Amino acid sequence: MIHRTSWMKSSAVSRRSFLVSSAMAACGLSLEAQRVRTARPQHSCVIVGAGLAGLTAAYRLSAAGWKVTVLEARNRAGGRAWTYRFAQAPELTCEMGGEWIGKDHKQILALARELNVALEPHTYRVWLLQQDQLRAPGSWGFSEKSQAAWKKFMEQYKKYDEHEKRRLDDYDWWTWLGKIGMTEEDRRIREIMDSTDYGESIREVSAFVAADEYVDTDYINPNNTDEMDYHVRGGNSELVNALVARLPAGSVHLNSAVTSITQKPGKVTAATATESFTADACIFAAPASVLNSIQFEPALSPFKALAADELEYGRIIKSQMLFDKRFWPAEDFSLMSDETSHQYYHSTLGQAGPHGILCSYACGDKADVLAAQSKADRQAQLMRDLAAVSPDAAAALIDSFDQPWQSDPWVHGAYAIYRPGQWFRIRPLLEEPHGKVLFAGEHIGDWQGFMEGAVSTGESAAGHLLH
Ligand SMILES: Cc1cc2nc3c(=O)[nH]c(=O)nc-3n(C[C@H](O)[C@H](O)[C@H](O)COP(=O)(O)OP(=O)(O)OC[C@H]3O[C@@H](n4cnc5c(N)ncnc54)[C@H](O)[C@@H]3O)c2cc1C
Repeated sequence: MIHRTSWMKSSAVSRRSFLVSSAMAACGLSLEAQRVRTARPQHSCVIVGAGLAGLTAAYRLSAAGWKVTVLEARNRAGGRAWTYRFAQAPELTCEMGGEWIGKDHKQILALARELNVALEPHTYRVWLLQQDQLRAPGSWGFSEKSQAAWKKFMEQYKKYDEHEKRRLDDYDWWTWLGKIGMTEEDRRIREIMDSTDYGESIREVSAFVAADEYVDTDYINPNNTDEMDYHVRGGNSELVNALVARLPAGSVHLNSAVTSITQKPGKVTAATATESFTADACIFAAPASVLNSIQFEPALSPFKALAADELEYGRIIKSQMLFDKRFWPAEDFSLMSDETSHQYYHSTLGQAGPHGILCSYACGDKADVLAAQSKADRQAQLMRDLAAVSPDAAAALIDSFDQPWQSDPWVHGAYAIYRPGQWFRIRPLLEEPHGKVLFAGEHIGDWQGFMEGAVSTGESAAGHLLH
C-alpha cells in the first residue's frame, strides 16, 4: 500500500485534468461541445464495478442529477470491502477484505461522516512469534543501529527530488533496507511485518513505494499503528450499504459482468452477456487485472493494455476463525510470526463476547500454501501455529471461513503491488482516460492499496465529469 506525498498529488491532478480534456478532444468532442453537453437536462454514466470506487462515483453523480447504472459481476456490492458473519454467532462481524481506516485517510473519513456511518477505534499492540519464541509488546523492538539508520535515511528521503525518487523506485525494499544499514535480524522482522502491507515479500516491492508509505509514520516503533486506526462500527459493509441506499432503486445491477465497452460519437455502451447499457460516459472502476478480459472498441492503447498485464496483485488469504471463548492474552491482541499463518489479530475487538473471532492474514508464498490445503488441513495448520499462544486454541474452535484473494476471479489478488521500476512507468498509463471511459480504483489511488485509494479515485472520476 502506498501514500504518495503532496508533490505527486498535485502533479497527478493536473496531469489527469489535461488527459481528460485531450482524450475528449481526441474523441471528437471540442471543449465547446463539452460545455453544450453540460447544459443538457440529464446526463448518464455507466459504471463498471460496485466496489467503493464505483459506488462513490455513482453516489456523487446521482446526487448531481445524473442517471447512473452500476454493473457488478458479483452477487453482492462492495467488492473488496466485505463484512462477514458466522451463522453460529451472527452478532459478531469480521472483514474478509479491507479492515482498517487510517487517521490520514481524509476522503473516506469525510464520506463516512457525510453518510452518518460511525467509526470506532481499531488499534492493536503487536506480539512477535519468531523461532518458536513468543514475545509480548514492549519486550521486543529494533536495534539502535537500525533505528539510527532509519532516522538518517528518512532525513535524506524528505529532501529527495523527483530524480532521486525515480532512482529509488529501481530498488526493492529488502535490498534498500540493507543498503541504508538496517541489520539482517531487524530486516527479517520487517519482512514479516511489511509484507502484510503488500501481500508479497518486500523483496518484490519498489523501495520508493515503501519509503513513501512509511515516511510519515513511526516505522521503527513496533507499536506504530501505520494508518490502522479505525473501523466502521458494524463492519465496513455498512459504508457500502449506505452508498447503495443513496442511489435510486435499481441503479446497481448484480451478477452483471461487463464483457465489452464500445464507444460511438457521443455515446458509450457497456455490455454484459445478456444486456447492454448506453450512456454519455463510463467509469471503469474494476481492478486492472480484469481490464484485458474486456473487449474495447476502439481498442485500448497497447501501452495501457501492457501496463494492465504487468501489474500484479498480492497473494493474501484471510482465514477468520470463530472460537467459543477469547483465549488470547489481550483484547487488542495481534501477532506477527514466522509461521505459515503469518499474522493473527482479534477481529472482534470492541464487540461483546464471550465468542470471538481471530483472523489469520497470510501473504505471498504462505498464502498459497494455506490456500492449497483442504479446510480441515488448513484449520489444523492454523491451530498448530496458535498453540504457541495458548494450548486452548484447538478445543475452542467452532468454525472458520477463508477468502484466498489470489484465486478471486474478479481481482486475482488482494491489492495491486508495484514492483521495482513500475510505479512511475505504468501507473500513469493505467489512470489515463480512454475516450469517454475514465478509470478509478485502488490501484491508481494516491493511497494505493487502501479503501481511501478507492474512494478518492471514485470522487475524482465523478468530479471530472461534473466540472
Ligand atoms: C485482504 C485484504 C485486506 C485489506 N486491508 C485493507 C485495510 O486494512 N485498509 C484499507 O483501507 N484497505 C484494505 N484493503 C484494500 C481495500 O479493500 C481495497 O483497496 C478497496 O476495497 C478496493 O476498492 P475498489 O473499488 O478499487 O475495488 P473493488 O472493491 O475490487 O471493486 C471493484 C468491483 O469490480 C467488480 N468487477 C470486476 N470485474 C468486473 C466486470 N467485468 N464487470 C463488472 N464488475 C466487475 C468486482 O467484482 C468488484 O466488486 C484490503 C484488501 C484486501 C483484499
